[in-house]
Amino acid sequence: MIRTSFAREARWHIVTDQPGQPLLIEDDGPWSSHPTITNDAEGVVAKLVARGILPPGRRLFYVDSDGRTDELLVRDSRFAGFAPGPMPVIEPRVGFCARCHDNAVAEWSEEMQAWVSPCCAEPVLVGGEA
Ligand SMILES: [Zn+2]
Repeated sequence: MIRTSFAREARWHIVTDQPGQPLLIEDDGPWSSHPTITNDAEGVVAKLVARGILPPGRRLFYVDSDGRTDELLVRDSRFAGFAPGPMPVIEPRVGFCARCHDNAVAEWSEEMQAWVSPCCAEPVLVGGEA
């Protein structure tokens, strides 16, 4: 488990790091003495790239200080903005369909290059609010 420690840098750890799937990290705080991932996004992305765990094309999600999951957009190995919303399901693949909210077991779609619900071909989400 990778942990950061400098007071001016966000503290976080890797939640899931499975080859070929999005990377998920979680903000640790304490935010009284450390910036959040949101506030240190450039630094967080730079560290992940430097460690070789964020190759081009790999998506990066994070659980923020409010417990929500959002995406850190990365272009050319640099932080490029935020995108709201829970990450697509990784493992286990059981969650709920992003469109109809029915329980769903994600199936791999070659066409979309993503895990999607069999009912609506939408992302299957786990945790949080739809
Ligand atoms: Zn559905």
